[in-house]
Amino acid sequence: MTVNFEFRKQIMDYHVHDVLKYCFQCSRCTDNCPISAVTIDFYTTTGYNPRANILNALLGYKDAIFSADPLTIWGCTVCDTCDEVCPQHIELTEIFTFLKNESVKAGNAPDFIYGQAQAIFDSAKAIPSQPAIERRREQLGIPAVDAPDVNEVQTLLKNIGSDKKLK
Ligand code: SF4
Ligand code: SF4
Repeated sequence: MTVNFEFRKQIMDYHVHDVLKYCFQCSRCTDNCPISAVTIDFYTTTGYNPRANILNALLGYKDAIFSADPLTIWGCTVCDTCDEVCPQHIELTEIFTFLKNESVKAGNAPDFIYGQAQAIFDSAKAIPSQPAIERRREQLGIPAVDAPDVNEVQTLLKNIGSDKKLK
């Protein structure tokens, strides 16, 4: 495996903050990760593994992360459990957010991520409302949800260049 020094520096910039925290590779993050619990194959150890991601990230093994199955990066649901249980107080999700952003920049994120982003751009909602939902709310006496200002949201997204990342 090749060390990508620029990538390693970027990771360290995210990771260090005020003090360098070493990863023990104790695997407490993986042992408590709900995604690892349902994806890791005990015999082959394939599946979503935050411990392995942290190891490859801190060592600068960019290819090991980005050439692999998209699940390697995008399996994380940002539940923050790993951040809470890490004995070294490593903010794993900070590093995983950086990896996800790099994946989007490279145009390699899974299709469902672009689909979700497109939905937000088009409707200013992560989950656009459906007539059936609106009818159900009315039947239950729940007030209608005000429509978001789509133009305003699109302007904000364009200002940060999100529209150029959509497929
Ligand atoms: S990131 Fe923390 S919990 Fe995970 S292996 Fe390293 S030291 Fe252990
Ligand atoms: S934040 Fe991500 S990596 Fe950490 S425990 Fe939750 S799903 Fe797993």
